[in-house]
Amino acid sequence: MESRELLIIGGGPAGLTSAIYGKRAGMDVLLLEKGSHGGQIISTSEIENWPGTKESTGTALAKSFYDHAESLETEFRKAAVREIRSENGRHIVSTSTGDIEAKAVIIATGASFRRLGCKGEADLIGAGVSFCAVCDGAFYQDEEVAVIGGGNTAVEEACYLTRFASKVYIIHRRDEFRADRLVCERAFKNEKVVPVWDSVVESINGDGLVEGITVKNVKTGALSDIPVAGVFMFVGTVPNLAFLGDNQIDRADGGWIRTDSRMQTSVPGIFAAGDVRDTPLRQVVTAAGDGAQAAMAAYHYITAHC
Ligand code: NAP
Repeated sequence: MESRELLIIGGGPAGLTSAIYGKRAGMDVLLLEKGSHGGQIISTSEIENWPGTKESTGTALAKSFYDHAESLETEFRKAAVREIRSENGRHIVSTSTGDIEAKAVIIATGASFRRLGCKGEADLIGAGVSFCAVCDGAFYQDEEVAVIGGGNTAVEEACYLTRFASKVYIIHRRDEFRADRLVCERAFKNEKVVPVWDSVVESINGDGLVEGITVKNVKTGALSDIPVAGVFMFVGTVPNLAFLGDNQIDRADGGWIRTDSRMQTSVPGIFAAGDVRDTPLRQVVTAAGDGAQAAMAAYHYITAHC
């Protein structure tokens, strides 16, 4: 069986930073990624809070992380992880390209957008229901669209969508956004952004293509139809951990992995970094910080135990 020193699962900011720190510490590092490198930021329109860079696209920032890790001769492999088995201090990671034994493993698989689960959502994904404004926004030139949610992602991406759409409704279940104050102020100043407060989506309507949504006012119970050509879902995230099954790694509510401050999970030698962790802040900068901590903790673990 293939045997490696440090195996990193996930090629977003956390995983790529772990690779940079792992290589700089002199470790043999293999990074597994099943899709494109960069993680969630590649579907983010603008990044304005990565220190030292006032403004960047998610794709450009992701590429700079990848190029940095590659310049240190990180080994990358396209593979999907299916399972992690830990026995007597050995970690066997089953992947779509074979089993790998690793002295230490860093799980940096990030999070995905949560689905709302309302009527019509599943049927109309790709036919007007989207989870990515950067990918699909340009299809809605001079059309009206709806964004669902009230967090930073919903409010920021709603502003981004006004570059194309003539009107962007933000359907939020409360009467104030969860998003940061500055982000909200920018949205309130934008005449194309129309908040729809205290409202939840009952159904997304359309025959083969989105034609509108039905929303319910949670205070009055009143139902109303809003004609829109596109619906963008930004109602939070869920950890990408289907491969863990009922593995013994301790997890918090929502399935997020619990770690200590050095990113050590409940299984010695398995670390977690970035959005997949049970953490109060999920940002590129915190993911990168986690990635650095995890790599150094893995280095000390290997030095002491292997
Ligand atoms: P989030 O902060 O968890 O917000 C999710 C939003 O969806 C909330 O407004 C929530 O409403 C709403 N929601 C959840 N379930 C719902 C349901 N079943 N029906 C209707 N509405 C529902 O998620 P996020 O915006 O994706 O952000 C994730 C993390 O990334 C956060 O920590 C965020 O700050 C961070 N982020 C930061 C930036 C930035 O700093 N530039 C940009 C993007 C994301 P309630 O408010 O009522 O709970």
